Amino acid sequence: MKKWIIIMALLTTTFLSASQVIILLGPPGAGKGTHAVPLKDELKLPHISTGDLFRSHLKNKTELGIKAKKYIDNGELVPDELVLDILQERISQPDCKEGYILDGFPRTSAQAKALEKRLSKQDELKVIYLSAPDSILVDRITGRQSCSSCGAVFHKTFSPSKKSLECDHCYGKLVQRKDDTEEVVKKRLVVYHAETKPLIEYYKSKGTLFEVDVNQRDKAEIFNEIKSHLIDASVYSK
Ligand code: ADP
Ligand code: ZN
Repeated sequence: MKKWIIIMALLTTTFLSASQVIILLGPPGAGKGTHAVPLKDELKLPHISTGDLFRSHLKNKTELGIKAKKYIDNGELVPDELVLDILQERISQPDCKEGYILDGFPRTSAQAKALEKRLSKQDELKVIYLSAPDSILVDRITGRQSCSSCGAVFHKTFSPSKKSLECDHCYGKLVQRKDDTEEVVKKRLVVYHAETKPLIEYYKSKGTLFEVDVNQRDKAEIFNEIKSHLIDASVYSK
């Protein structure tokens, strides 16, 4: 009897400690941040954007933020050690115990390997790859307006805020990110193809990748497809 109680306790602990990790992978401007918002609300998992974490460090002028700034402004990747530090710190917080949604991480194979090392056997990793041709991404990003307060994203033509330069959610001021200019975007796309795109094959070979084409489709349709993949993968309960 006692033995069974111990086994049951062990199983329960194992079950409870399993976490759902969802990666939103895709080029800049594919809509990772946009779809992460309803996903985090519905799945009740925190949304972790490494870009947002860096921007918040930058705003607070921390040492890490200052170190990362020159890379971000030039459209380059922040070195892996800095990214891993910032991510490690965030995912060790108690709200990440049941899982989290990663947006903008991993972006290199070293980052993907470091994440894997951190996950335990029972953790579930699902990758949603938002695919789009480069030709649409430059327009999407250069017209993007981000809320300086809550980080919500609008587009001056494709999804404008109700009032010009004011966030619909928190009335914060909308600004263009410094790295959202045409020149920097082109650089970010080159970096994406060289460093991040190989991760698609990597996750495909592990059978954890679902591709969602985001070209010329509306937001709701894309989100429904993401959701149906996650339902099939049992991330959402039916
Ligand atoms: P987007 O998805 O639109 O490219 P992000 O907000 O995710 O924008 O990232 C902005 C910048 O922050 C990147 O161009 C890069 O310099 C830096 N960054 C964010 N995440 C990472 C990461 N995982 N590895 C390296 N650099 C990163
Ligand atoms: Zn806002």
